[in-house]
Order: sequence, then C-alpha cells, then structure tokens
Amino acid sequence: MEPQYEILSNAFKTLIDPNARLRKLGDGYLWTEGTTWVPDSAEAGGGYLLWSDIPNDRMLRWSESDGTTIFREPCGYTNGHTLDRENRLVSAEHGGRRISRTELDGTVVNLVDNYEGKKLNSPNDLVVKSDGSIWFTDPPYGILSDRQGHKADSELGGNYVFRLWPDTGTIEIMIDDFDMPNGIAFSPDESILYVADTGYELDSPGASIHAFDASSSGTLSNHRIYAKPTPGKSDGFRVDTNGNVWTSAGDSVQVFNPAGGLLGKILTPDRNANLDFGGPNGTTLFIGVNAEAYSIEVNAQRATRP
Ligand code: MG
Repeated sequence: MEPQYEILSNAFKTLIDPNARLRKLGDGYLWTEGTTWVPDSAEAGGGYLLWSDIPNDRMLRWSESDGTTIFREPCGYTNGHTLDRENRLVSAEHGGRRISRTELDGTVVNLVDNYEGKKLNSPNDLVVKSDGSIWFTDPPYGILSDRQGHKADSELGGNYVFRLWPDTGTIEIMIDDFDMPNGIAFSPDESILYVADTGYELDSPGASIHAFDASSSGTLSNHRIYAKPTPGKSDGFRVDTNGNVWTSAGDSVQVFNPAGGLLGKILTPDRNANLDFGGPNGTTLFIGVNAEAYSIEVNAQRATRP
C-alpha cells in the first residue's frame, strides 16, 4: 500500500492519526481551489464544505447528509474563500476581478473591484483579520487566459497584497514587492502575516511562504522567508490553533511549525492547492487535490481569531 504520511518529527505524530485515510468526497473537476468549511448549527448538520472549480466557473458544496452538489454556477470564476466575523462567505473572484461577500440571505454583493480606478487583476486568496479588514492577494492568473477567468491586460501593472476595510471601501497596498502573491493567513495572535509567492522559478528562494511581523494596526516589518515546501510551491494554507502552517504542495499537504521546520507530510494523489479544517469536530482536514476533493481526520483545528 502506498505510504499515507511522511512522518518527519515526533510533533507530527501528535497532529495526525496514523490510521486515518484519505476519503474522496468528489471528482471530475478541472481545478479545485478555495476549500472552505462553513460551520452551521448542529441541527443543520454542523456545516458544509465549499470549494471552487475554477475553469468550470462553479462552486461545489459537500456535506455529510447531502454529499456533493453544485452551490453556485456561474460564480464569477471564484478562487479563494474565507469567512468574516459574522460567518459570511467572502470570496476572491477572477471573473469579476473583485472581492465579493455572500450575505446571510444569499445575496452576493461587491466589496471592491478597483484600486484608484484601475481594475484589480484577479483576486486569488484572502483572510479576514479580527478588526474586520480583508487582506487579499491579487496576482494575474485569472486574466492571463480565458481558462480561469477572462483574458485581459493588467491595469494595475503590479501584483499587490491589499487590505480592504469593507465598511468604508478603503483599500490600501500593503505589499508591493512580490512576484505572484497567493495564499495568505495570520498566525493565531495575528502578530505574523504569512503570504505565499507562487512566482519565480521553482527552486528560487522567493517561491516560498514569506513571513512578516504585523503590528496590531497592520504595519508590516521584518520580511523573511518562512518556509519553502518542496516539491511544488505553496498555493494556499491554513494555520492551526498551535500556529503550525498546513500548506498545499506538489505531492502532499506539508505541516510546518511556527519556526518554519517541516514536521511531516500527508501525501496526496496529485498536487493540491487549497485546504481547510472543519467537520463536526473541527478536526477534519479538507483538501482540494487537482480534479478531486478529499478529507482526512487529523488532531488539529483551524486557529480561531483573537
Ligand atoms: Mg491560490
């Protein structure tokens, strides 16, 4: 039988159940991203999983009771998703070149689609900070061709990390020196911001997860390389309650401790892009693996915001 894990530390043994196995939730997609667990009341089944099938311009939904169904189609070529403080879905859309929010009644509203009058490139991934600000990455993957959006020229001429204040619409450039900013997350106390760069050559140090010290007001300093998954690159990642970073990579989900040490890998059948913790106990790891969606039970949970 194929090995399921690469256990590289004793710490990793406490984070996984070595007897747990990948469970396939669905297949037949073109490229899955935006894997996000949406909690709900126990009466409503505890919640459901959402993800994007970007080239098919649709979002899928999975729950234990309903299995896999179509959540929204077309969906504006959504990529990453996250939840805000009110548990509303906030999405990065390639097609609309915008950040949208799904209200609790299901209405989709535009939060921002430009910076100083210039269209965003194609927002890729995002995180909501405890102060309500939305931090998102804006590489051009959705405008390079018609496969994951609509081919177009960049109006910004750069690939930035933005901070959006959704109540006022104020948008600011927070990082301007990345090649292809992609996955983004904060440490549990929000003192560190992690941003993946999927640009550069595969072996370049820049093609890594970068880290910044983040002040409570959001000022960034002390830019450094945090971790470099291999093979492949980090696309999306989540942080657990202990500050470990669980990231996608070419062959596995790779888990790094807060110091950037690789603890171990959960091997996947193909390259994977985005993941999230969820399920009835919060200890199910959901993984978007190229054309398929999987889950596996772990001994870790998504960090809660302070
Ligand atoms: Mg991404």
